[in-house]
Amino acid sequence: MLHRAGYQACLVGGGVRDLLLGRQPKDFDVTTNATPEQVQGLFRRCRLIGRRFRLAHVFMRREQIEVATFRSGEAAEQSAQGMIVRDNRYGTIAQDAQRRDFTLNALYFNSADGTLADYVGGLDDLHQRIIRLIGDPHQRYTEDPVRLLRAIRFAVKLDCQLAPETEAPVRELAPRLCAVPAARLTDEVLKLFMTGQAASTFQQLQHYGLLAVLFGQTTERLAAEGDATQQLIEQGLHNSDQRIAQGLPITPAFLFAVLLWTSVQHVARRIQTNGTAPYPALHQAADEVFAQQSQMIALPRRFSAMTRDIWAMQLSFKATKNRRAARLVRHPRFRAAYDFMLLRAQVGEVDITVADWWTRYQAEHGPTPSRPRRHHKTGVRQA
Ligand code: ATP
Ligand code: MG
Repeated sequence: MLHRAGYQACLVGGGVRDLLLGRQPKDFDVTTNATPEQVQGLFRRCRLIGRRFRLAHVFMRREQIEVATFRSGEAAEQSAQGMIVRDNRYGTIAQDAQRRDFTLNALYFNSADGTLADYVGGLDDLHQRIIRLIGDPHQRYTEDPVRLLRAIRFAVKLDCQLAPETEAPVRELAPRLCAVPAARLTDEVLKLFMTGQAASTFQQLQHYGLLAVLFGQTTERLAAEGDATQQLIEQGLHNSDQRIAQGLPITPAFLFAVLLWTSVQHVARRIQTNGTAPYPALHQAADEVFAQQSQMIALPRRFSAMTRDIWAMQLSFKATKNRRAARLVRHPRFRAAYDFMLLRAQVGEVDITVADWWTRYQAEHGPTPSRPRRHHKTGVRQA
């Protein structure tokens, strides 16, 4: 439709990249010389979004297509620290290529003539499986520190290597993520952990010092309690990756429960030393841990409330008495809490006989386990 109206328009980004890699694209991004307002004029179902980066969402059947106008990338508004706070200066397609993040994300497919335009050597990098930031890495990370996370995400997801100059500044610049709005980091973190490769992503984040910035408390506990924490987290993320591979639903609440469990226990133990009972201590500890975590990553209440329930129920699993168990299995969060308890049993934190008792009990009295979904989209949408 953009072509028919006389505009330039190409597919770009993940859709083109994934097709060239022989992978199933998650979605398609379009870029055009039409302004967002002109795009809106052409499509019946279209919504303009974003302030920092204004673009159009076009809905076609069940697809949502992101349509961005070519950016010049020049004179984008920057904060005092050199972060881009607004980039709505329109330009040509060649300029647009320069302001994209990685070379393999800057390939333009024109459906009108079937050509692929490559202004930055993206095709070579794609064939060699190299994630290479376009332009000066230090500057590009500083402009938008989220690119640090995107580099790791694409390396893991696409099984690629970071180019040496793209890799070099990551550790040093990791603290820049602190300047990124907490809500944007929530989206990015969910993309990191909910797309089926959470366990290896976690290791990479740890390796590059990004975990320490994103999950400070977790990193502290990893330093203090070492192996046990590492094992619980890696196993938890691995279990969640397996669920995704089987088409089973996962919830961000479970991931936060896994990542922050040792922290909440640590704080709860401290609170209990002044005589506070286990349940209130856990809830108070959850408040503290969430408060600290949300300075970095916004934790929407619908997630944190469930994470809290998962944690609180761990205390109830200690008692294997039919009457109390009957109440617990009816709890709407029972399934997630039970899975979390099994994870703890897997790493030796819960007695196997206790775990087995609950497995038998819930098989007879519990809710039915969730069944695989036929159409598995991204974890983030599922959330
Ligand atoms: P995914 O498979 O996760 O959708 P994607 O590459 O399509 O991967 P999107 O977030 O959908 O990622 O972004 C679409 C395109 O927009 C990217 O391929 C890239 O060209 C550009 N882009 C996205 N985020 C940034 C950024 N922070 N800086 C520069 N360019 C970006
Ligand atoms: Mg995309």
